[in-house]
Amino acid sequence: MTREYETVIGLEVHVELAARTKIFCGCSTAFGGSPNSHTCPVCTGMPGALPVLNRQVLDYAVAVGLATHCEVEEYCRFDRKNYFYPDNPQNYQISQLYLPVCREGYVDVEVPEGGRRIRIHEIHMEEDAGKLIHCEDGRHTLVDYNRSGVPLIEIVTEPDMGNAQEVIAFLENLRLLIQYLGASDCKLQEGSLRVDVNLSVREAGTAAPGIRTEMKNLNSFHAISRAIASERERQIALLEGGGKVVLETRRWDDGAGCSHAMRSKEEVRDYRYFPDPDLPPVRIDRAYLEQIRAQAPEFPTEKRIRYRQEYGIPDYDIRIITDSKRMADLFEAATAICGQPKKVSNWLMGETLRLLRERNMDAQDICVSPGHLAALIGLVDKRVITGSVAKEVYEVMFESDVDPVEYVEEKGLKTVGDGELLGRAAREAMAANPRSVADYRGGKEKALGFLVGQVMKALGGKADPVGVAELLRELLRRDETGA
Ligand code: ADP
Ligand code: ZN
Ligand code: MG
Repeated sequence: MTREYETVIGLEVHVELAARTKIFCGCSTAFGGSPNSHTCPVCTGMPGALPVLNRQVLDYAVAVGLATHCEVEEYCRFDRKNYFYPDNPQNYQISQLYLPVCREGYVDVEVPEGGRRIRIHEIHMEEDAGKLIHCEDGRHTLVDYNRSGVPLIEIVTEPDMGNAQEVIAFLENLRLLIQYLGASDCKLQEGSLRVDVNLSVREAGTAAPGIRTEMKNLNSFHAISRAIASERERQIALLEGGGKVVLETRRWDDGAGCSHAMRSKEEVRDYRYFPDPDLPPVRIDRAYLEQIRAQAPEFPTEKRIRYRQEYGIPDYDIRIITDSKRMADLFEAATAICGQPKKVSNWLMGETLRLLRERNMDAQDICVSPGHLAALIGLVDKRVITGSVAKEVYEVMFESDVDPVEYVEEKGLKTVGDGELLGRAAREAMAANPRSVADYRGGKEKALGFLVGQVMKALGGKADPVGVAELLRELLRRDETGA
């Protein structure tokens, strides 16, 4: 009989902060500038250049610490992590080892088995490295220091997770808090959220922790789930075969669905950490802490309670809307303009979710402005356009946030209210489809639907289908009696 194993998982999460300038210099953090255009002597590691801590970075780090129930330390300090690699121009990375800014927090998550508290060991601030670009000729490597000095926080959890579901729930909650704070957009695919998974297994019931590995290069929640399943199996197979797990860093290959050892921790270099002599320790006083606390936004949990009281929309809608800061903002602002929470919510639950799924997009990237959504709802309410035309218009708004009023005008999408035009289209549809006319008169109600469809088609969808059905019924009855 094979033994039962438990999985133990702890995470190291890097978050790229939304500060406009780098952590220790005034260079831009904007993504995509031409190589080495966002650089200066500090972030290219020139001798004698002096770093100065960006206040905004500390603000964000403390805000994330408070949002995750951490103790914010009165003093913190920066340390040099010494190593040589060409993407690291100073030959050391400035990080925090001995005195990180926050410690001992937690994030509560809900999984099907119930509530779980995932403890946070610490949060520290550090700088990102540059980027190496390996040329296709296989002989040259170029370096771009635009990313060098981009501010990061690293959030280290306790090994409190037992499966992929708990890991994903933790990451989703953490990401949501950080997005609400505006501290980062937290995109796994673009690297503004990077997750390293530490995983070990142990025989069920035993207390001693197993030996862990660390998995890197996880670019989606899906990849994280697969990597966890694969690593658990690999370790169990090793142990069952009488082997041992080695403490090592592994690289996940999502295409191949497996991981490869990158480097063993046994041969790990000594980073010779020491306090950075160029940066004074940071003192965080009460007043500053209170100021950051006061700036905190309304978080999802609070929002959900308020929505229930204020808007009277279903819990299901509330959950989906508050699960994205962007959606929540759009919902609140559009509702404030048009005063119809349920209609705004319907556009979000229906077309918006459909388009997001279809385009494999993140809700954060919705570009529709609240005023335009409210205006679209107004157009339907006033019967200027039909529901189906509104959906077409929304698709264009979703693409480029066009003004629906102007767009409807420009494209001539207003509902055909002209009785003569409608009547002509209806008569033509009847004349062209004698079978359907006969069927309807013979009692087949369904045939009417077909005729309505024909009229709608002839009018390019710009008629009110209920009105068209009424008109057709009327005509079919009248012609029957010879009127
Ligand atoms: P190190 O100092 O060697 O990097 P840490 O104690 O800082 O080790 O742990 C790093 C990460 O590994 C943390 O996220 C922690 O939760 C996780 N971790 C520690 N021990 C285990 C274990 N036995 N199994 C799984 N994860 C672990
Ligand atoms: Zn710089
Ligand atoms: Mg560590």
